Amino acid sequence: MDIDALVIGGGPGGLTAAIYLARSGRETMVIDPMGSGGQLLFIDEIENYPGYDRISGYELSGKMEAQATALGVRFEFWEAKSIERKDGLFIVTTDDEEIRAKVVIIATGAKHRHLGVPGEEEYQGRGVSYCATCDGPFFRGKKALVVGGGDTALTDALYLSKLCSTVTLVHRRTEFRAQKILQDRVLAKENIETELGKNVAEIIGDGQKVTSVRLTDGTELETDSVFVFVGTDPCSAIFSSLVELDGGYIRTNERMETSTPGLYAVGDVRTTGFRQVVTAAGDGAVAAHFADEHMAAL
Ligand code: NAP
Repeated sequence: MDIDALVIGGGPGGLTAAIYLARSGRETMVIDPMGSGGQLLFIDEIENYPGYDRISGYELSGKMEAQATALGVRFEFWEAKSIERKDGLFIVTTDDEEIRAKVVIIATGAKHRHLGVPGEEEYQGRGVSYCATCDGPFFRGKKALVVGGGDTALTDALYLSKLCSTVTLVHRRTEFRAQKILQDRVLAKENIETELGKNVAEIIGDGQKVTSVRLTDGTELETDSVFVFVGTDPCSAIFSSLVELDGGYIRTNERMETSTPGLYAVGDVRTTGFRQVVTAAGDGAVAAHFADEHMAAL
């Protein structure tokens, strides 16, 4: 099938790009095997997206998708398997269709990093989780342990503290990377304890479910769940022959252009010093504007 603009990935960067492209009169499609939302779906409460004092990631992504749909953007649950440039068009294959597009916006984001310790894979889905909003309710009234020191770990520790009896926050350094306002809230919460300067060395279970963790200093802590928030890795592999990568992230200029004309990257998959919902959305608007200019010149 032929289309003007193909957006690969339905997070805030991809959805914003699609909204701008559709408003420029470009036939636009968003493909994402998970539907729309991306990492937004894992955020319980967002307090720093302008215009909303507080909104859930699910609600915000739903609003963005509805806005794009109303403008005529087509959504498909397809996964991009390969991409090549041929005769001035991008050919993107999926298991369902081959798509030919004049421009492509890469908005594939990043996936959760794992700790890589014994027990982690074995107990995934049986106490080990990478999503507090998805799995937190299963541990209501029980003990939770959170690993990480960034915005995600602290935001989700706060969320879990509302459901679980206690939350133990384990971070490998003695200083958090997260925003100061989150640190202050975590430290003020009575049922959040911190274990700093240590990491999880092993996740232990009874064969059915998680029962405890062993820390790098040898301490064993009882817990019913382990929530791992140790960062993300960019989903850039299939684009590597068409773009320049830096530590797996796609290099762009300030117009969100990659090294291949007509190919743009936005949000968490690109090299940037600051990854937020609002910055991903901003990237999407910029990419769409210059992609529209690029198409006008074809
Ligand atoms: P992040 O900022 O990269 O933080 C990852 C944390 O995990 C760091 O504290 C890091 O420790 C730790 N870590 C990394 N590898 C580890 C390992 N192998 N073992 C133990 N700990 C490890 O990731 P994030 O918190 O997921 O955030 C990702 C991006 O989304 C950030 O830019 C963040 O600002 C943004 N975000 C924003 C919001 C918001 O604005 N509301 C919410 C969530 C996320 P070190 O500190 O020692 O490196």
